[in-house]
Amino acid sequence: MKAFSFKTDKGILQIGVQFENAFYNFSQAWELYKEIKNNGRGPSLGFLQVMVEADFFRLETLQEVLDTLKQVRPLSELEIKGTYTFEPPIGRPQKILCIGRNYKGHAAELENEIPEEPLFFSKAPSAIIPHDEVIRRPKDVGRIDFEGELAVVIGKQAHNISQSKAIDFVAGFSILNDVTARELQKSDIKAGKPWFRSKSFDTFCPFGPFLVPTDAVEDYNNLELQVTVNGEQKQQVSTSEMVFKVEEIVAYISKFCTLQPGDVIATGTPAGVGELHAGDIVECKISEIGSLKNGVE
Ligand code: ZN
Repeated sequence: MKAFSFKTDKGILQIGVQFENAFYNFSQAWELYKEIKNNGRGPSLGFLQVMVEADFFRLETLQEVLDTLKQVRPLSELEIKGTYTFEPPIGRPQKILCIGRNYKGHAAELENEIPEEPLFFSKAPSAIIPHDEVIRRPKDVGRIDFEGELAVVIGKQAHNISQSKAIDFVAGFSILNDVTARELQKSDIKAGKPWFRSKSFDTFCPFGPFLVPTDAVEDYNNLELQVTVNGEQKQQVSTSEMVFKVEEIVAYISKFCTLQPGDVIATGTPAGVGELHAGDIVECKISEIGSLKNGVE
């Protein structure tokens, strides 16, 4: 079961779920469920972020709503019809943090050492774009690279938590393309400046389309990640090859800054990063999570 945010042809934001290869309007399903269970009382759910912040984004909850409705009407009545567009699963995270050099192969290709502790930096949330939207290359900054990554979405406030409990604070998993102005990043590092700006141009954060609840992912530390450009394979790795695992990353960051529900952590990119040109189509795929595709101009 995968959840996503979408906008109807009337411009209304809704939550959708993919279940057994069909797409259903979960916001509508939720309204009917409330009628059955609680005389219509309860919050409205248009934003996936609200569901995450309310701490009931779980496979259990999604399943319970659909199972209840199945008993009173055919689920096909809730299938999403007409044209709609994907929205980012979380549109306004308080922060996006990214892990650098978390796969040996990628650290080596940029001639970097593997860090002894997780290395994290931030990316401006204003850079987020959804599945299917175009990455715009800024002029005069040189090479622009793709970086396909497994994204972790925080579900509960986490401050100084232990590794053994860290996964309880994760709402689910998604895909993030950590687009980078590579030459600007290198020159900024060389000059001793932060490389935040090279990561934060508008459209440099394709994200989504799906958010998969943590309890619906069999083994998040063993997923296949693959990136293609125009159908040609560029990156391919198992998340089992991460230097720092999901639990270590979440626990580590929580010692420095409190993680809030909806915060996004990109867990690093494997070897094979490369340049994006106008007209390219870049697709990041992760087993069990989905596929994030964006054009380039
Ligand atoms: Zn990255």
